[in-house]
Amino acid sequence: MSLRVEICAEDTSADPAILNTLGYKNTINAIVSARKIIVVCGAGISTHAGIPCFSDETKPTDGQKGSRRRNRDLFDAALLREPEMMSEFLKCIGNLHVLAQKAAPTPFHRVLQLLDDRTQLLRVYTPNVDGLEEKGGLTIGIPAVNKFSKQRYAKGIQLPPATEIPRCIPLHGSCRKLHCPICHHVYNMDANIHFILGGTLPICTKCSDRSASRVQSGKHPLGIPTLRPSITLYSEEHEQGEIISEIVGGDLREVSAPSQSKGTVILLVAGTRLGVAGTKSLVKEMAKAVKARNGTHARDNKK
Ligand SMILES: [Zn+2]
Repeated sequence: MSLRVEICAEDTSADPAILNTLGYKNTINAIVSARKIIVVCGAGISTHAGIPCFSDETKPTDGQKGSRRRNRDLFDAALLREPEMMSEFLKCIGNLHVLAQKAAPTPFHRVLQLLDDRTQLLRVYTPNVDGLEEKGGLTIGIPAVNKFSKQRYAKGIQLPPATEIPRCIPLHGSCRKLHCPICHHVYNMDANIHFILGGTLPICTKCSDRSASRVQSGKHPLGIPTLRPSITLYSEEHEQGEIISEIVGGDLREVSAPSQSKGTVILLVAGTRLGVAGTKSLVKEMAKAVKARNGTHARDNKK
């Protein structure tokens, strides 16, 4: 089932009969009248843009008679220790990047931008790595923090001012970036796409240059690492997990703050079956805070 929803600044009405029939009337009314909205979304919001959902099963190929595995298995860190799986994973990421580059944001992405324009959108948390939220007009990313500052040890991570925290937090990274696991230099996928589509990883040129300089000065060469896609895999710890936790904590405090008691705050969960433990616990935490302040918890998994 598909649903076309139009929310305009002046005219917030949709066809009440249609929305009521589909069971969306209360959801739409809650969105339109909410003071603040937190969105947790999943792959379902991008499928209409041609981005595959990785919980889908793949059909057996000629070389895999009788085998049937989920695409999601390709994103499990444990399986990537097998060279063949790593190669397949890279090709998958490369193809995903190519698709995402061509894809246009869906109506849902445009609704998110509209809610942001209306200053209703507090945050979008997404496990999607396609970057369509940014194409739809939202700021996206995880802000840099000084991990080695004295303040960190004294007070925890110091986030930048709220206005500098991106509206959309990518929980699993981005298919548009690669990075070096040693020096953490970030590279664009576009410049390395021929490696990735070929199922191989490029080396870190920064580390390579550093090693060459050492050799020139009579020192031992350094090991030269290969890059990795900037995607956090299932069963893998997020490198910026602490920063995400701080942002979640800040949003929870904003939802719960007594000074913000007027107006409804809603949590909108869309396009996900909550099959990933991290996303599920995030939704639980947010839902608890929203319910505690008598907000509305709106969940919509209709297709
Ligand atoms: Zn490096």
